[in-house]
Amino acid sequence: MNNIIDGKKVRDLRTKELIEKISKLNTKLSLVVISVGDDPASRVYVSQKEKLANTVGYNFINLHYDSIKEEDLILEIKKLNKDQSITGIIVQLPLPNYLNEHKILETIDPLKDVDGLTSYNLIKLIKKEESLIPCTPKGIISLLEYYKIDLLKNVVIVGRSELVGLPLFHLLLNKNATITLCHSKTKNLKDYTSKADILIVAVGKKGLITKDMIKKNSIIIDVGINRVDNKLYGDVDFECSKYASLITPVPGGVGPMTVISLMENVYDAYKLQKKFDK
Ligand code: NAP
Repeated sequence: MNNIIDGKKVRDLRTKELIEKISKLNTKLSLVVISVGDDPASRVYVSQKEKLANTVGYNFINLHYDSIKEEDLILEIKKLNKDQSITGIIVQLPLPNYLNEHKILETIDPLKDVDGLTSYNLIKLIKKEESLIPCTPKGIISLLEYYKIDLLKNVVIVGRSELVGLPLFHLLLNKNATITLCHSKTKNLKDYTSKADILIVAVGKKGLITKDMIKKNSIIIDVGINRVDNKLYGDVDFECSKYASLITPVPGGVGPMTVISLMENVYDAYKLQKKFDK
């Protein structure tokens, strides 16, 4: 039995659906990606975004700075906020340490915040109001829905970051899942993971979850991306695939869903902006 969740296939289907929706608009949408510094992984992620943005037919602008003062970056974002021709803005993370990530992200107009990382969008999500949802959690929900996975189950998320674990907790809660959110201070992690019908791991530690830590026939979503000797690994030891009913591979699982979710968010941002007449 093939129990591998195919993120690329779902991404391709959703890309087609998005192109169809965009073709009905009488305007070209624009996505700006701001990047600072020289992080090699970031360069790869920006180019993946550029490729898919071109495929769906967005204007893609990468504002890259080798280095920039915080106040100048904030001014640049404020200019983009006011620019009617720009639909979505993201700041590629991580930023160099000398920049205050929180302050910079909070400068983005929440209706252009296509990474869904402003406090405004997080609060809207918690309150179940229409908002721009962080791309990785949104992509995971799309995957679970595509595979028709019943969410009225015992779900365990490992990792509570504002990028992945925390918004995913709220998204799943809004869908009536019963969820445990684990983190680095959780004692006896295995006690939780081994009871999960659906286990989602977003930590950044290769092989953190081993076969003795999972429930037989569970569904495993591996968000982790760990680069070792130029090869990518997840947080879940792939031995677990022998015991899981469904599992995402790394690469090819959650990663492609993150990028298509960003493209979907640009469309959603356009619709929200129309609604609020921006
Ligand atoms: P992060 O901000 O570093 O957060 C990591 C989380 O893991 C924290 O909540 C931390 O707990 C928890 N943690 C650390 N060690 C742990 C342990 N031994 N046991 C249990 N929990 C532990 O990372 P992130 O941005 O969420 O990313 C997580 C991973 O997902 C990374 O590998 C990243 O590259 C990957 N990622 C992939 C995609 C994709 O598209 N596939 C997108 C985003 C991120 P504390 O809160 O207590 O510190």
